[in-house]
Parts: sequence; C-alpha cells; structure tokens
Amino acid sequence: MRRVHVVGAGLAGLAAALELAEAGTAEVHLHEATARAGGRCWSFHDVKLERLIDNGNHLVLSGNDAVLDHCRRIGTFDLLDIAPDAELPFHDLADGSEWTLRMPSGLAGLVRGGAALPPGLGLGAVLDLVRLLSAGPEATVADRVRRRGPAMDRLWHPLSLAVLNEPCDTGAAAPLAAVLRRTILKGGRACRPILMPHGLGPTLITPALRRLRDLGARVSWRAPLRGIDRTGDRATALVFDGGPVPLGPDDAVILAVPAAAAGRLLERPAPADGRPILNAHFRVPAEAVLQAPRLLGLLGGLAQWVFVRGDVVSVTVSAAEASSLGREAGVRLWAEVSRALGISGPPLAIRVLREPAATFAATPGSVARRLPMRTGLRNLLLAGDHVATPLPSTLEGALLSGRASARAVDSR
Ligand SMILES: Cc1cc2nc3c(=O)[nH]c(=O)nc-3n(C[C@H](O)[C@H](O)[C@H](O)COP(=O)(O)OP(=O)(O)OC[C@H]3O[C@@H](n4cnc5c(N)ncnc54)[C@H](O)[C@@H]3O)c2cc1C
Repeated sequence: MRRVHVVGAGLAGLAAALELAEAGTAEVHLHEATARAGGRCWSFHDVKLERLIDNGNHLVLSGNDAVLDHCRRIGTFDLLDIAPDAELPFHDLADGSEWTLRMPSGLAGLVRGGAALPPGLGLGAVLDLVRLLSAGPEATVADRVRRRGPAMDRLWHPLSLAVLNEPCDTGAAAPLAAVLRRTILKGGRACRPILMPHGLGPTLITPALRRLRDLGARVSWRAPLRGIDRTGDRATALVFDGGPVPLGPDDAVILAVPAAAAGRLLERPAPADGRPILNAHFRVPAEAVLQAPRLLGLLGGLAQWVFVRGDVVSVTVSAAEASSLGREAGVRLWAEVSRALGISGPPLAIRVLREPAATFAATPGSVARRLPMRTGLRNLLLAGDHVATPLPSTLEGALLSGRASARAVDSR
C-alpha cells in the first residue's frame, strides 16, 4: 500500500491524517516536531492553577461546520456546549453599560424584531456590512466601514480583533467577510456560541489521535522535518534528523506546518506571523462565578473576551502587542475582569500565557502571500490555516484545509 506522510500534528494535520486513515487508501505516517499534538490548539494541566487549561480561549460558532463535523467523527460532539440562542452579552468597562448582541434564527425572527445590535447602531451598520462583503483583496476593514463612532467601537473593531487578530486599520476585509458569510449571513442558527467545557485537548485533539491509532496510523514525535529532497516536479525524500525517508513512486506528503515553516521548507515567501494573543487564566472561589455568564465580551479596556469554565476565569487579549502588556498583565486584567463580573478580592492563582505567533498576519499584504494547496511538486500538498482559502487563521480553516489536502491526495 502506498504511504502518505503527514507532517505536523496540529488540527490540519490531524484532519488530513484522519480523512486518509478512514478512507483506508493509504498507510498514514504522522510526523510531529514536538512531543504533543494540537499545535496552536491544546490543553495542559497547570500546576499553579491545579486545573486543566487551554493555551488560549478559542471562540467557535455553530456556523463552523467543519469543527462540528470533526467532533462527530471523533466522538466528542456531546462534549460541546452549544448555546441555545445566538446571543453574546457585552460589558463596557468605560461606563459599565451592558447589552446583548442577538441574531434571531430565520427571517420570521428578524421580522419580529428579534435582532439586537449594540446601542447606538442602526441601519448604518447594515450598510457597513454590505460594503465589507464586497471588499477586494487590498482593502482593510477600516477602508470599508465607518471609521468613528459606536459602530467602530462596539462592532467592527472588536470583531476585527476577534476574527483576524488584527485591528481594523490593518486587518484585511476579505477574510473577515468570509467569516461573516458563514455566520451572520446564515442567521442565528450559524451564530450560536460553542464552548468546550472539557478543554480543547480532550474535545478536539486527544480523541483524534486515539482514533488515528485505532485506524493503524503511525505517529512519530520529536520529528522535525528539516528539508525536502526533490527531483524535477517530485519530492523524493523527507529529511529528518535521523536521516532521509525516501518516497516511493506512489507515496505522497501533506505538509501541515505553520506558514513560516512551510515557506522555509518550500523556499517560498509565505504570510508573516501575526500578532501575539495573550490569555490570562484566574482561578477563583467557585461561588464567585456561579451566576457569571460563560462567555462575555468586554469593551473599553484591555481585556476582550472572558470565558468562565468551572472556577477558572480566562481572559483573552488579541493583537496583544498593540496593548503592550508586560509582566503586569495579570494584575491589570484581573482589575478589569473582576469589575465586570462583580468579584471582590484577589484571584487564588494566575497564569498568563502569551502565544507569540498565534495566527498568520491577516493584513492584505500578508494574506496575498498565502500559498496554494498545490505546491508545484506533484506528490506534495500543503495544509494548514495559512493555506489560501477565504478564511482567516481559524480552527475551521485548518480543518477544511486538512481535509481538502487528503481528498486531493486520494484523487491524484
Ligand atoms: C491563543 C490562540 C487563540 C486562538 N483563538 C482562536 C479562536 O478563537 N477561534 C479559532 O477558530 N481559531 C483560533 N486560533 C487559531 C487556531 O488555533 C489555529 O488557526 C489552528 O489551530 C491552526 O492549526 P494548524 O494545524 O493549521 O497549525 P498548527 O496548530 O500550528 O499545527 C502545525 C503543527 O506543525 C508542527 N510543525 C511545525 N514545524 C514542523 C516541522 N518542521 N516538522 C514537523 N512538524 C512541524 C507544529 O509543532 C504543530 O504541531 C487561536 C490560536 C491561538 C494560538
């Protein structure tokens, strides 16, 4: 049987390997540079908090069909906490005001007036949306929406940070529009927030790895790919520290590494690394958050999203370098989040995590350098969130890309 080497055990690599292993058309060999799977999406037991925490909060909506499908395939769909309604509560730290962004399901709900926008927004926001949806590849979000006022402060800027990990001034409009097409334009049924109360690892990663093993896939850890030998339009060997692994005439490779690594290995310009994302996790007395929303958007401060899981409150700051948060991050963020949730006193423990290259840079210039799935080498395909798809750096994009590469290998 021919062999397919999948390099990189992030979600894209796992999705590609699963698709191939389930089809049973090839022997699958997964190679991962580190000692764990998940790449930028993982969980670990934190000794300070004495809790399982995620490397970073991941916001997923019910329009993320590939994420839902991945969970169905690996048997973790029941672990998802899918909100019954498309509602997101917000708290403005500047003046203490609160509101809920709401999207009804179906036209009937819309006609009945079930939609709720942030205060101060009206028809202008709909016109912004129309302009955003028709954006070309060179436009930033700020080029397509009104630059000042509540629509910018309460909708487009937070949305740009959450979806693109870039502020409106630099974030590319087209990938944001692609996400809006798959969510808001599909109505409330595609905008219900999905939480993973058991953690990213137990929900998305570990069971995928288990399923791969059950299907007979081979996994090599601490196996960074160093180079690719090629002759003409074919890759002939993968070069690892232990030596080259020759590729047979029917063998294929799926390179599911991040943008920078893919660019280096293929000697091609690739998207730049995006801005860091900072997450602060606070363990609190359980009774302090019994009434707290599981997910809360914050405006008017540094903290942007608050996730409450059991007795751990986790706060996300996207595009974190912009807010130049240093060692004092935990203290400053706790001041904001404790005010928003009405918690008095200090947290029991704090863990601050900064992911330096959380996403590829979703600026128009960087997006233009996204590499296509087909590399010019007939037996080597690319997968990953950075591969040229309409979507920005997301779980959904990584999963879709992984699957597409596996199907392309099978249809060669
Ligand atoms: C803090 C944070 C918050 C995020 N928030 C969200 C969110 O709210 N919603 C959302 O949808 N997405 C979010 N994302 C983005 C999402 O996590 C990524 O888009 C997705 O995980 C990328 O998956 P991937 O498989 O393409 O790449 P990766 O996860 O980067 O996987 C690539 C794998 O390749 C391995 N590798 C690298 N080089 C080599 C080599 N030479 N040889 C072998 N292996 C190699 C790496 O170790 C890694 O395991 C967030 C990311 C971070 C970090």
